[in-house]
Amino acid sequence: MTRIYNFSAGPAMLPEAVLRQAQDEMLDWQGSGMSVMEMSHRGKEFMSIAEQAEADLRQLMAIPDNYKVLFLQGGASSQFAMVPMNLLRGKQGADYVNTGSWSKKAIAEAKRYCQLNLAATTEDSTFTRAPAQSELKLDPDAAYVHYTPNETIGGVEFNYIPDTGDVPLVADMSSTILSRPMDVSKFGVIYAGSQKNIGPAGLTVVIVRDDLIGQTLDGTPTMFDYAAHAEAGSMYNTPPTYAWYLAGLVFAHLKQQGGLEAMAQINRNKAMKLYAAIDNSDFYANPVEPESRSWMNVPFTLANAELDAEFLKQASARGLQTLKGHRSVGGMRASIYNAMPEAGVDALIEFMAEFERKHG
Ligand SMILES: *Cc1c(COP(=O)(O)O)cnc(C)c1O
Repeated sequence: MTRIYNFSAGPAMLPEAVLRQAQDEMLDWQGSGMSVMEMSHRGKEFMSIAEQAEADLRQLMAIPDNYKVLFLQGGASSQFAMVPMNLLRGKQGADYVNTGSWSKKAIAEAKRYCQLNLAATTEDSTFTRAPAQSELKLDPDAAYVHYTPNETIGGVEFNYIPDTGDVPLVADMSSTILSRPMDVSKFGVIYAGSQKNIGPAGLTVVIVRDDLIGQTLDGTPTMFDYAAHAEAGSMYNTPPTYAWYLAGLVFAHLKQQGGLEAMAQINRNKAMKLYAAIDNSDFYANPVEPESRSWMNVPFTLANAELDAEFLKQASARGLQTLKGHRSVGGMRASIYNAMPEAGVDALIEFMAEFERKHG
């Protein structure tokens, strides 16, 4: 068996130890005589899996007690609508920060429900930086402020948590959750699709301060109401049980690896190496301002775009796969989430240098 280094932006790599444990437990979870996939979500076996996963996530992220942790479906994309439906709470307007493709999608959806104030946009610098706190034009009457801490496509990441005073801060953390410690108490809502840094696709984690729920917009479907899910322990309907279980294995694995402080060190190190390799060459380039560079998604271009296909072909032959950049920006993108081993980044850097020597 040979496993590749998969640089996909998502679904992405999972820790091999987690996949092996899932394999071991596939047919018979801990003597239950059944696979987790076959369990009733309300049975004692799955309840214990669900509770352990939540407890481990709470511990990893140091989530305060006045926050609910919801295990939902529908992806981060459903949250683009669920956030205004739940958080407007009788107010008309919300602030949004536009830093790229995913912010834009959140904005387009929110416009259907609220008066949208564009608190900042970096479109004039072609989304190659995060705005500074001083650039945010915040409305003190806004129901909430929404931003995207890490733009997965552009590779732009905030290196600070915006200060929004008493206005709840909402973060689409899909591609950076669990990459480092974050002070959860600074947020009203954190949401993330699971397929980047949490587990397999199909699960969406929402962390919401409990005073913000229960005041949905008229006409909100029950399935889009945070309160309905919170009251039912995320079992208002059948949750994505297997994805929840695998996420739990990932949380336990991260705890074993030293938690998010340890992940932050490893992630910073992996990213800095790769950016250094790009910056030290005349052949590769990354357009993002150094202080806004993502630790998780590293886009880069070759000096000659006609070599892109050859680069991808040779990389793939070495087991370095899914490096093609997003169709909207072209070039390459290396997504290096928690589960990408440092050896994978080293192998990429070595290949890049070799390719440059031959073709540069
Ligand atoms: C991947 C991604 C999404 C979309 O997630 P889905 O789970 O596919 O809906 C939204 N926002 C960000 C920042 C992402 O990286």
